[in-house]
Amino acid sequence: MQITVKCPSCSADSSFFTVKKGFQGPFRCWKCKSLFTLKVNKDGDTELLEPLSQEDFEKQKADKEARRKKAREKTV
Ligand SMILES: [Zn+2]
Repeated sequence: MQITVKCPSCSADSSFFTVKKGFQGPFRCWKCKSLFTLKVNKDGDTELLEPLSQEDFEKQKADKEARRKKAREKTV
């Protein structure tokens, strides 16, 4: 589905596609490069959009990588 988000800090519209319905995860504005935690429900409504620090962003990315690695190990 297509997710459309308006950046709270610079008002730029961002849109991207997801395979699943809804989205939950870190989001970076293409224009002002601000980081946010974004949660969009299956109807495409933004449920959460709050500023995210670079540190938290890296942490979330690391967690995601760790989970992906684990899932890969399971299938092997
Ligand atoms: Zn922005």
